[in-house]
Amino acid sequence: MTAYTNESVLTELGFRYDPSDLYQQVIGLVLKSAEILDAPRHLRLIMAQPMNELIVHFPVRMDDGSYKLYKGYRVQHNNILGPYKGGIRFHQDVSLDHVKALSVLMTMKAALVRLPLGGAKGGVQVDPRAISQDELMRLTRRFTSAIGDNIGPDHDIPAPDVGTNAQVMAWMADTFVNFLPGTQRWLGQAVVTGKPLEFGGSYGREKATGQGLVYVLDELLPELGLRFDQTTFSLIGYGNVGSWTGRLMQDRGATLKAVMDHTGSIYNEKGLDTLTLAQHVVFTGGVAGYPDSEPISDKDFYGMQVDLLIPAALEQMIDVEHAEMINCKAVVEGANAPTTPQGQQVLTDRGIAVLPAVLCNCGGVTVSYMEWKQNRAAETWDAETVDERLRQHMTAAAGRVKLASHRYGCDMRTATYCAALEHIGKVYQIRGIFP
Ligand code: NAD
Repeated sequence: MTAYTNESVLTELGFRYDPSDLYQQVIGLVLKSAEILDAPRHLRLIMAQPMNELIVHFPVRMDDGSYKLYKGYRVQHNNILGPYKGGIRFHQDVSLDHVKALSVLMTMKAALVRLPLGGAKGGVQVDPRAISQDELMRLTRRFTSAIGDNIGPDHDIPAPDVGTNAQVMAWMADTFVNFLPGTQRWLGQAVVTGKPLEFGGSYGREKATGQGLVYVLDELLPELGLRFDQTTFSLIGYGNVGSWTGRLMQDRGATLKAVMDHTGSIYNEKGLDTLTLAQHVVFTGGVAGYPDSEPISDKDFYGMQVDLLIPAALEQMIDVEHAEMINCKAVVEGANAPTTPQGQQVLTDRGIAVLPAVLCNCGGVTVSYMEWKQNRAAETWDAETVDERLRQHMTAAAGRVKLASHRYGCDMRTATYCAALEHIGKVYQIRGIFP
């Protein structure tokens, strides 16, 4: 091992140690894997800070004729492997720190799957449920023009995340295209992925993150001594990732016992029907009030006995308090960074496995990559082709994590970071640092 301590890397970069800070938690994991890999100091320094951090303020005309000023972000963490790639979040709690942390996770996911893409993330501080569709459209278009040339099909390619969807991506692409010279417009729509099928979207993108998670479980459930058709599970979040994961797990024979979202927690001992629940959420905005269920407290939700608990909502929800209540064999991370390091320690001490987000939810960026490829080649692949390629990528990614876990004798999360950073390190070594 080298004499480079990770603390000295953070000190050199001017960090003030704060264990509750999400960015420092994520960088802590990157540096832990760098230590195991004995990575050179310059790689640790480069990975510990994003390449670019952009903050924009932009006005939006509201329906009543007044104007509001919004704050937006785009953070580009690393592009050694290819153009920056990562979602756009619309949420009232979006902060630079969270966007930075999520951009690092994107770098790690693309590297783990060996995609020719880098990592980025963006967002706007807004509650999208609190404004009208017209206001949402104007906000999206104005944000897109505010970040301007900082995105592009060869440079940085956004996608949906919490609070954004295919419609928002369509507005982003349309705005971007309208700023291009006429001769370049055909490729412009590749500036974002997760678009509607009718406007350059890909079959399989909407369900991709949930589908990828299920393919990972194909590889890892046997190691937990479980089979889909005998597995019970609960979900935190029933948006894109949560609802698709629920539906695809039910298709495999698993039983969804409980769901928690921002409207409350619900339960059915015999199992919740995942499709009608998804329809209920579309119509009412949340899981509360779903007819075939009982409301339960959040405490009862966390304490419920299930085989798998799948967080698919926001970051840092499984902290020490929740980790102490959880009653399952494994936490399967559909959301990004849902478990705090302190929460993870409690789970580990209690013998609860954690299948990490960078592996479990990288199906989204993998099918985004396929959408981008289809746009650039002016092709449309059928759903079976997309599914099969996704399955191959997820199986290979899970294999890399298992191999790293055996080789370095570490837990799955650390192994995931090792498998990703090893690849990035090799590319830096081959390319060298300019000049
Ligand atoms: P979404 O907006 O579609 O759904 C978010 C869900 O979180 C909703 O069900 C909402 O009710 C729930 N939620 C919000 N606040 C909550 C709270 N306080 N308590 C309980 N539930 C709460 O977002 P999504 O796209 O499904 O993303 C969910 C997670 O998955 C995020 O961490 C996101 O970064 C990650 N992710 C998404 C994708 C993707 O393709 N959409 C890909 C990879 C990772």
